[in-house]
Amino acid sequence: MKDSDCIFCKIAAGEIPCTKLLEDDSAIAFLDIGPLAPGHALLIPREHYVTVDQMPADVAADVLKHLPALGRAVQAAVGCEGFNILQNNGSVAHQVVPHVHFHVIPRNPDDEFGFNWPAGSYPPGRIEQLAEDIRKHLK
Ligand code: 5GP
Ligand code: ZN
Repeated sequence: MKDSDCIFCKIAAGEIPCTKLLEDDSAIAFLDIGPLAPGHALLIPREHYVTVDQMPADVAADVLKHLPALGRAVQAAVGCEGFNILQNNGSVAHQVVPHVHFHVIPRNPDDEFGFNWPAGSYPPGRIEQLAEDIRKHLK
């Protein structure tokens, strides 16, 4: 499955260059061209899926199995203190490239990257009701 207009499909097919970190039959990882920090990497499925919920579970597993090693390697190479795994779905969630990708973003104290985390709370009973609704959709 490939989208001829998709830049990450073209990278996966070797039609446009990237700075490759790893690859196998299911996945490829490369350095982000607009890094939030040196070593900012992207892990993508070879096949074209726009959002993570479209991915078959076995494909997701084959791609995500690379995250621990990739995170360790980036951390060791750039000497960052930690890292974020970020994965955006939909333009409302800041997805710009419509091909699933997992960001590995090195983090250090006082770096420039940040996001709002406007944590809320539930009124009595709402959390159980919501969990029940979500569980129904998992079946
Ligand atoms: P999004 O906002 O969709 O989650 O992030 C897309 C990411 O892809 C951005 O961080 C951007 O810098 C990166 N990107 C976009 N085009 C290219 C490209 O052609 N090559 C590489 N290596 N990264 C790209
Ligand atoms: Zn694609």
